[in-house]
Amino acid sequence: MAVVWQCQAVNSTSSAGAVRQGSLRELNLAVVLRRIAAADRPPSRAEIAAGTGLTRATVSAVVDDLIAGRLVAEAEPAPRTGAGRPARGLVLAGDGPAGLGLEVNVDYVAACVVDLTGTVRHHLVRRADLRPVPPADALDRLATLAAEARAAAVRDGLTVAGAALAVPGLVGDGGLVRLAPNLGWRDVNVPALLAGHPLAAPVDGIPPLVVDNEANLAALGELHAGPPGSASFLHITGEIGIGAGIVLDGVLYRGARGWSGEIGHIPVQPQGRPCRCGGRGCLERYAGQEAILAAAGLAGADLPADTAATRLADLAGAGDPAALAALADAGTALGVAVSGVVNLLDLDTVVLGGGYAPLAPWLRPPVVEEISRRVLTAAWSPVTVRPAALGARSAAVGGAASVIRRIVERPVGWLAHSSTSGSTARCTTASPC
Ligand SMILES: [Zn+2]
Repeated sequence: MAVVWQCQAVNSTSSAGAVRQGSLRELNLAVVLRRIAAADRPPSRAEIAAGTGLTRATVSAVVDDLIAGRLVAEAEPAPRTGAGRPARGLVLAGDGPAGLGLEVNVDYVAACVVDLTGTVRHHLVRRADLRPVPPADALDRLATLAAEARAAAVRDGLTVAGAALAVPGLVGDGGLVRLAPNLGWRDVNVPALLAGHPLAAPVDGIPPLVVDNEANLAALGELHAGPPGSASFLHITGEIGIGAGIVLDGVLYRGARGWSGEIGHIPVQPQGRPCRCGGRGCLERYAGQEAILAAAGLAGADLPADTAATRLADLAGAGDPAALAALADAGTALGVAVSGVVNLLDLDTVVLGGGYAPLAPWLRPPVVEEISRRVLTAAWSPVTVRPAALGARSAAVGGAASVIRRIVERPVGWLAHSSTSGSTARCTTASPC
């Protein structure tokens, strides 16, 4: 009798019951998908049930939904080792949603597509000096490249579910770029300027475009693509400007107003060279790309950012004394600034990213030396200094990966889009969703 009464009670408050049912399904979808995403090896339905506390019937129903929505696929079966059929493991699907990562920088625009498995499917770069170009024109060039990347994704059967744009500057609410000094941008409303360029399919819960600081997105890229290890690290992007992403306990620390990480403007010589920011002796004036090139005798060589780092690496590798001295001095300045950050935040890893990644063999030793000299705890608790796993691509890849993470955190929005896009749920070149 009690069971019947309970059923009647739920039915009598049908709208609240429906909401609860919807929330429960949403929660279960997320729990199961996260479990599959985090697994070291493809888990079976039974293993997911055991690990989550859900019933096997619930897990099976949820997995069926995830497979139908192209979020999950069955892995190849393991070889038979005894009687009975081996259980099929589950993996993230590589033919469903994708993230679009975009980057606008001083001398290039970039676009990349990352699928749900984290694989970079396409990475396009177009070089041009964007400093004399008005922001609207620079963003038009970016939109053209983004359209090419999206078309390439569609040809692969993928659907771009959201985009994230990395910019070398301070980003305020709503994607307003308050200041990007090296691009000469001030108060540029990026989403408004890109409004005429559709970047992604409309998916509930996933913004079509997020604008973020390049160092933040690069740090997020490293967090998810880098080698397992520290969850508290500093990721430094060394270009013409120098930015840092601070990750504490696996979470990006943005600061009270979202503007943390301006390591390039930490003074390393208080009465030193004047800086674009109005201060003096900032790190950027000693370890930024222009400073290193000038010290290496390459000022005015007009090298694009990535080419400049490769050229410096080639010269240093060949033993060029000026390049070696320039990198040693830059590494020392970097080490001074980094030591202050490590002393303050107790980080155990420093990642050299962006243009610093190919220069890490020469920058690392002086950085380590300064840390050993200046970080109080370094003697018994060493700090790892290593190049970024994603190298110079990390900001765009990190942006795309941030879209993917949103889908894994809340798959119900994608599933709703997938089910209303038709039974095939696939975009085509003629109809890119
Ligand atoms: Zn400065």
